[in-house]
Amino acid sequence: MFGYFDLLHEVQLFCKNGIETGIVGESTLGQQIPYIFVGNKNGNRMIVQGAIHAREHLTALLVVGLAKHLVKNSHLRMDGGIYFVPMTNPDGVRICQEGVGWIADKGVRANLVAMNGGRDFSLWKANAQGVDVNVNFDAKWSKGKHNTFCKGAQNYVGKHPFSTAEARCLAEFTERLKPCVTLSYHLKGEEIYWEFGQKGHRKFADERYANAIAKYTGYKVVGAGGSVGGYKDWCIQKLKIPSFTIEVGNDKYAHPFPYSLYSTILQQNVDLPRRLLNSVVEERNTIKSLGWEDVLNG
Ligand SMILES: [Zn+2]
Repeated sequence: MFGYFDLLHEVQLFCKNGIETGIVGESTLGQQIPYIFVGNKNGNRMIVQGAIHAREHLTALLVVGLAKHLVKNSHLRMDGGIYFVPMTNPDGVRICQEGVGWIADKGVRANLVAMNGGRDFSLWKANAQGVDVNVNFDAKWSKGKHNTFCKGAQNYVGKHPFSTAEARCLAEFTERLKPCVTLSYHLKGEEIYWEFGQKGHRKFADERYANAIAKYTGYKVVGAGGSVGGYKDWCIQKLKIPSFTIEVGNDKYAHPFPYSLYSTILQQNVDLPRRLLNSVVEERNTIKSLGWEDVLNG
């Protein structure tokens, strides 16, 4: 299993090799959420994030693997740079992997055990408040098919949008960087989600990217579905940029998902961030050179 301290160790190695690393913000329990930056600082930006859902911690290892691939292949053309945020929900990942023994506050520990209905947290998805961070964003918040309104291991939307430190700091980080595209890694299903009410050219373009991702990864493109309030939804609706959720991992395996499939998953996605960034930048530049921003992005 890939844990929070493994991540900190990996980030340190990037840093030692002269790669920029930093902090997106702090989790509910005050743990730092690191990022790794690879590429050209002056160009367009992309954000790739993983493990916003605790039990999907394999995606943190995946995001680290994708960053490593780019470092090793720095000769490949990249129109900008990529911020990799491997573990958006470090408290949740630790709870899922270690239980609650590491948490200092007795009350928090007791609450978590009560919400979870026991001490086996291996299927935990939420943060340390029992809020599902990926339904806590301000985009049709609380209107989702699977949303729940009490604290628990998954699907609880929180008291209001951005009630979690994790969603807040990822949103602030994103607003500050103004990426032209974002990619979120989840587990499992081998599916690509891209749609959240885009119209006209944006819909056409984003669906085309989704189809290209499907071709590259071998996963299938899925329509809007009933999910709302996620990071991708917020990026599409509020920032008006293409944003994708990729569910890696074959659905025939149950959670906790076997790490033996990691290298297959890495291979399926290995050069995807760079390709996606380049394509989005190329299209942006074309529209700009034609002077059609108002028509095509309206
Ligand atoms: Zn997920």
